[in-house]
Amino acid sequence: MTSTEATLLSDLHSIVGDRGLLTGTDVTLRSCDPFRAVPPEGPAIVRPASTGELSQIMALCHARGQRVVVHGGRTGVAGGAYAGPAEIVISLERMARIVEIDPVGLTATVEAGATVEAVQNAAMEQGLLYPIDLGAKGSATIGGTIATNAGGNRVIRWGMTRQNVLGLEAVLSDGTIVSAMNRYLKNNTGYDVKQLFIGSEGTLGVVSRAVLKLVAQPRTQLVAFLSLSSFQAVLDLLVRARRLQQLSAFEVMWQDYYAMVAGHDATRRPVDPSQPFYVLLELMGFDEAADQAAFNSLLEEAFDAGLIVDAVAATSLKQVGELWRVREGSEILVREMAPFISFDISVDIRRADAFAQAVRQALTTTFGEVKIVTFGHLGDSNLHIGAHIGSDTLARAHEIEATVYAVVRQFDGALTAEHGIGQMKRDFLPDHVDAGALTLMRRVRDALDGTRIINHDVLF
Ligand SMILES: Cc1cc2nc3c(=O)[nH]c(=O)nc-3n(C[C@H](O)[C@H](O)[C@H](O)COP(=O)(O)OP(=O)(O)OC[C@H]3O[C@@H](n4cnc5c(N)ncnc54)[C@H](O)[C@@H]3O)c2cc1C
Repeated sequence: MTSTEATLLSDLHSIVGDRGLLTGTDVTLRSCDPFRAVPPEGPAIVRPASTGELSQIMALCHARGQRVVVHGGRTGVAGGAYAGPAEIVISLERMARIVEIDPVGLTATVEAGATVEAVQNAAMEQGLLYPIDLGAKGSATIGGTIATNAGGNRVIRWGMTRQNVLGLEAVLSDGTIVSAMNRYLKNNTGYDVKQLFIGSEGTLGVVSRAVLKLVAQPRTQLVAFLSLSSFQAVLDLLVRARRLQQLSAFEVMWQDYYAMVAGHDATRRPVDPSQPFYVLLELMGFDEAADQAAFNSLLEEAFDAGLIVDAVAATSLKQVGELWRVREGSEILVREMAPFISFDISVDIRRADAFAQAVRQALTTTFGEVKIVTFGHLGDSNLHIGAHIGSDTLARAHEIEATVYAVVRQFDGALTAEHGIGQMKRDFLPDHVDAGALTLMRRVRDALDGTRIINHDVLF
C-alpha cells in the first residue's frame, strides 16, 4: 500500500470508524457481479452510516481526486458496480432503514441501502404495495433500482422505478447534499431534480434516501401459465389481456428458454414443452369474484379463439410462486449457458419474434452453431436474450454484442430496456442515441462531476 493510500484510508476511517471501513479479504471476497466472481480491485469498501458521513466521504474524495464506485446490492448486470484498482467502493449497506410508511399519503420514506423486498414487506404490513418487483428483490436496493431505473415484472401495470419515486436525496461528487424529498403527487416547484438521478447509473451523485409511491395491496393474484402455437397468438392474447384493468404481468418465453428451464428442473414444467411460445399471465385486483370471472372468461375466450394450446392456472399461493419460478430460472441459465452474453433490449412488440429470429440468424451466420435463449417482459416491449457461441464466448463478447446490436439498430430498438449501460455497453451508446442528446448528457455530467470521480467508467 502506498503512503497516499494509507493516508486516504486513515482519513476515511476517521469519518466512518471501524465498522465503516472494510479492507483485505472483506474486499477481495466480494463480487461486483451477481453471476460470477468479480472482486473490487481497489483497497477498500467504505460504508457510511448516514448522509452526513457520506457527504464527508465525497468531500474528502473530491479534494483528493479519488475515484469512487457506488455499490447497492450488486445485482446489476451491466457491470456498473465493477471497481478498478484506482477506485474505492462506497457501499450503502449500513444505510438501510425504513424510516416511515405513511398509509394516508401512500408513501415510504427509506434509506437507499434498503432492499426492494424489505420495502415491499414493510408496505405489506400496512396493506400497501411497493409495485417494483424483480427476481433480485432480496438483494437489489432502492438506491440501485433508482440509479438504474429498474423495471421488472409489473411495469405493464405500475410503470418503471421512475414512475414510483416521489422524491429523493443525493450527495454530489463534492459532498453537497441535494434534498429533494418531495412527498406529494403534485409539486411543480422548479425543476424536478430527482429525475436527474433516476436512471443516471450513479454518474451524477449518490442516492442516499428516497420517498417512494405506494399503492393499495391487491387482494387477488391470479396466475396462469400457457403454451401457444404461434407468435400471432401471443399478440392476440396480449391485446385481449390489455383490456383488463387487473392485468399485472404478461411475460413471454420462447421455446429455447422454456425447454432449457423445464428440461433441467421437472418442478418447473407446468405444460408440455412442445410449443414455440409460453406466456405467464397475471391479474391482480380487489374483488375476488369479479377478478376470477374476468380471468376465466379471458382464458375461455382465448381457448375458443384457438390462441392457447395448453394452460395451467394456479389454485394456491404456493402454485403462484411455482409458476413464477419458471419465468425466473436465471440460475439454470447461468449453469447451462455459461459463459454467455446477455442482452436486454426494447423492440416493437409486433416485431419481437422477427427480431429474435433475425438475432439468431445473424449470430449463426457469424459464429456457426450458437445456443440462444429468449424471454422477457414482452408486454413492456422488453426482451432478454442470452447467447453462447462456445468456450470463447467471453473472449469474443464484443463481436457478439456488435452483431446483436446491429440487429437492434435495424429494428429501431433500444440498446437497453431496464438494465442500463453500465461499463458493458458504453462502447455502443453513441450508435444508439442522438448526438445532441449525448452532448447534453455529457454537459450535465460535467456540470455535476467535472472530474468524473463517481463511477468513472460507467455510461460514457
Ligand atoms: C436474478 C436477477 C433478476 C433481475 N431482474 C431484473 C428485472 O426484472 N428488471 C430490472 O430492471 N433489473 C433486473 N435485474 C438487474 C438488477 O437487479 C437491477 O439493475 C437493480 O436495479 C440493481 O440494484 P442494486 O442495488 O443491486 O445495484 P448495484 O448492482 O449495486 O448497482 C447498479 C448500478 O447503480 C449504481 N448505484 C447503486 N446504488 C446507488 C446509489 N445509492 N446511488 C447512486 N448509484 C447507485 C451502481 O454504481 C451501479 O452503476 C436483475 C438481476 C438479477 C441478478
